[in-house]
Parts: sequence; structure tokens; C-alpha cells
Amino acid sequence: MSGAVTVRVPAKVNVRLAVGGVRPDGFHDLANVFLAVSLFDEVTATAADALTVTCEGPDAHKVPLDRTNLVARAAEALAARSGLDPAVHLHIAKRIPVAGGMAGGSADGAAALLACDALWGLDTPRAELLGICAELGSDVPFSLTGGAALGTGRGELLTPLDAGTFHWVFAVADGGLSTPAVYRAFDRLAAAAGTEVPAPAASPELLAALASGDPDALAATLANDLQPAALSLRPRLAAVLAAGTGAGALAGMVSGSGPTTAFLVRDAEAAAKVAAGLDASGTCRATHVASGPAPGATVLPG
Ligand code: ATP
Repeated sequence: MSGAVTVRVPAKVNVRLAVGGVRPDGFHDLANVFLAVSLFDEVTATAADALTVTCEGPDAHKVPLDRTNLVARAAEALAARSGLDPAVHLHIAKRIPVAGGMAGGSADGAAALLACDALWGLDTPRAELLGICAELGSDVPFSLTGGAALGTGRGELLTPLDAGTFHWVFAVADGGLSTPAVYRAFDRLAAAAGTEVPAPAASPELLAALASGDPDALAATLANDLQPAALSLRPRLAAVLAAGTGAGALAGMVSGSGPTTAFLVRDAEAAAKVAAGLDASGTCRATHVASGPAPGATVLPG
């Protein structure tokens, strides 16, 4: 129960985010094809007198340091289950954009869970860790497993998928978008259209494209049902999408609930070119180049 444990955890992009109708519990049924990408946060757990949270990185000022932070909630959930006092200091080294639709908070929650499990020597079975993740949030189980997966239910029921390697550029917008607000906009747009929202599904073409590693095939099938809702709240994102495809991306889309935009590119060389084009366009705050699938939350050698 001494020393420090650091866990590295990836961001995710949804290569398909299919949204169904609202369920009686208020969540939407989803068919969510997750791909973990090589843009990482790190969470370090150190024994302490009380539960404390600190954060470093360009977006650190946007991250809550109280018990609402998912790292604190993860430590409390694991400690409660094990009859321990969650006396731990959790430090987040943050590179994943905050409120950017890349599941950064979820990633940190999964990382904190794994870090505390190792720090406290609990060796909690993987299935139990995944259960705690699902209680913390719909995207948290995938942050633990990484790779590529289909998430059904509200996104938390995972089936691993085969995936070739794909290269991406992410354009970070000024300000965040609240995920619940984007879902409310989705509901408003669906009601205004007056058509029934179909049951969410990932097409066989998309799953085959993901497995093949062929970027042209994946570019033809990428889709995010939340994109019109995110664009309705942030119309300026249309200019970012145009700048990315104008700079040579095979396809661009809003990442998850946005406002980060994700651009699929042919290879690492194209990624550098598209990132430079986006940076020069003045339509976004920053760009990140990444590839996936990336491994899920991993304890780093001490
Ligand atoms: P998702 O893609 O899962 O919808 P997101 O990437 O859009 O999520 P997050 O970065 O997870 O959004 O942040 C959403 C909100 O969660 C933040 O505005 C912040 O108030 C809160 N939050 C709690 N814990 C964290 C954390 N560790 N890192 C970032 N935000 C956190």
C-alpha cells in the first residue's frame, strides 16, 4: 500500500454512433462503434491522508477537482466495495480535450480505477472492474478495454471488434459541448422531423471496413447520428469540417457529441499535412495526430 501507480489511458473516436429513441430510464439506445486512439491521459495514484485530485495540462482549469471528478468517483466506488478508506491522491496529466466528445473524463475514471486497484493490491477480477466502470458511465468500460468494440445498450455492453490500423487528425474547438445538451438537441430535431427514430445498428459494411484496415472503405461508411445536433448548437463546426476535407482528409465528422472534429486520413504523412492545413485555417484551437486501435487503460512500469 505504498509508492505510486501511473495508468495510461486512451481517448476514443466513434467511427459509427447510431442513436435510437429515448428509453424509459432517460438514456438513448445506442450502437456505438468505438476505436481507442493514441491520444492519452495519465492518472497517478499515490497513498495520501485523504482523497485529493490535481490536474495538469492546457485544459486543466476546466477539470473539476472535487468529488464530482470521475477519478474521485472511481476511487470511492472501488474503496466502498473493498471496505477501504479512499485515502489517495489522484493526479491527472491531461492531454485529451475536456468536454470534447472523446470520453476524456471516462478515460480518467477507468485509469483511476485500475491505478487504485494496483495501489491497494486488490487484484479485483476484470469482470468486476468492468461492472464498476459501467456504473460510473456509459463510455467508461470501453476506456478500460481499449482496442475496438461495438457498444450497445446505452453504450456500455461491449463486444470486441477486429480493426486494422487507421490514422486520424483531431481538431479541438474553443469551448466544450455538454453531452446531455447535444442529446436534447437530437431529440428536438427528431421530433421536428416527425419520423420514428429507427433502432440503432452498425452496418456490416462498416464492420468489414474496420476489420480490413482500408481507410477508403472506412471513410465511405463513417457516420455520427449526433452530428446534426452538434452542428445545430455549434454551426461554426461546419467550417472546421470543410477545412479538414479541403486539406486532404478522406472524411471528417464530429467526434461523439463534439465539439472536437475527427478526420480520417490515409497515413501518417497525410495526417501531418491535414493537421498543418487545419492549423493554418484558423477554424480550430489545436490539432492532435493519432492512430488506432490503441490499448486500453494500462499500468505503466514503475
Ligand atoms: P463523452 O465523450 O464521454 O461524452 P466528453 O469527452 O465530451 O465526454 P469529458 O472530457 O469527459 O467530456 O468532460 C465532461 C465533463 O465532465 C466536464 O465538463 C467536467 O465537468 C466533467 N469531468 C469530470 N471528471 C472529469 C475528468 N477527469 N476530466 C474531464 N472532465 C471531467
